[in-house]
Amino acid sequence: MWADLQPVGRSAHSGGYRRFAWTRTDHDLREWFAGECTARGLDVTDDRMGNQWAWWGEPDDAARRGDKGVVTGSHLDSVPDGGAFDGPLGVVSAFAALDVLRDNGFQPARPIGIVNFVDEEGARFGVACAGSRVITGAMTADRARGLTDADGVTMAEALEAAGRDARHLGRDDETLGRIGAFVELHVEQGRGLVDLENPVAVATDIWPHGRWRLDFPGEANHAGTTRLEDRQDAMLGYAGAVLAAREAAISHGCVATIGKVEVTPGGVNAIPSAVTGWLDARGASPRAVRRAVADVRSMVEQAGGHVTEESWTPSTPFDPALSDRVRDRLGGVPMLGTGAGHDAGILANAGIRTAMLFVRNPTGVSHSPLEFAELSDCLEGVAALGAVLEDLAGAPA
Ligand SMILES: [Zn+2]
Repeated sequence: MWADLQPVGRSAHSGGYRRFAWTRTDHDLREWFAGECTARGLDVTDDRMGNQWAWWGEPDDAARRGDKGVVTGSHLDSVPDGGAFDGPLGVVSAFAALDVLRDNGFQPARPIGIVNFVDEEGARFGVACAGSRVITGAMTADRARGLTDADGVTMAEALEAAGRDARHLGRDDETLGRIGAFVELHVEQGRGLVDLENPVAVATDIWPHGRWRLDFPGEANHAGTTRLEDRQDAMLGYAGAVLAAREAAISHGCVATIGKVEVTPGGVNAIPSAVTGWLDARGASPRAVRRAVADVRSMVEQAGGHVTEESWTPSTPFDPALSDRVRDRLGGVPMLGTGAGHDAGILANAGIRTAMLFVRNPTGVSHSPLEFAELSDCLEGVAALGAVLEDLAGAPA
């Protein structure tokens, strides 16, 4: 499976992946997913957003008995020049774990589902986890349809171009009603497991995180003829904010990043009349993140700038009882929080019992062609996922 996926959407230039929603590459990945299901005798259905679901067993029969299925899987799309593991490791491990269960003669007491969530990274339309957000109602169909990519193509147009009916989008209670528990396996996106010397961990929660826009006013003027004392250079305040964000993150024990900036007018020989930067801050403690942002805000305001909160997402805890059960089943593996968002977090917020497994990443690097996991650790992940599915799908309701 890994070898089949390796060339799909890979940039010859960077060696990274460019697998964006509703493109030709995405189509090829969806075909691959459907082919893996067919090879295992599993029927594939698309939900109202186009997420792909395959079931071993009959989830609707189980629902009529008052029981629900156990679902695993992840996503196949990537960030621009992303790595091979973020997403696909969870999908490939899902199929591999199912194969292990079947080879062992396991007979599930309730159905097991495998899902491929569409557009998890939001690389094309700017909203992460669009597939899970739409089916849970966390994003409205109208908002999703109206999102645009860098070429001005709306998601509705992209869906139609991919042969889909954009009018069909929306919350999908029929699909959600089949999920009794969701367990997503994912490559770790940090070095937690390296320090703990363990191949697999269970997630505790997704850290609280937010985005803030920092606006700095200035006055455009000639870079050669304007005396230093006569300048109102918007870049100076911005530069101070970048350094302040780093200092604040250190002193409050969280992370802060300014990874996007727009400069007006944006000429090498023009003093900037306006600079806008975007701050992303996250941490295990919401109070720590709030304090760090307050430090940045006071620095920005001293420099005559202005801070606008664009988003704030509180901590997303995974189901504690389910997570404890998974950890115990795996012999007490470590528990780790994460600063990255996942479809599992969207489902948890929708009230679905959700847990996550992380597989060790020796460098911690993610969203980069350098993202990696050792084969032996990936196989430990498959074994762990198989054991968890066996437990959750095998026990009496
Ligand atoms: Zn991911």
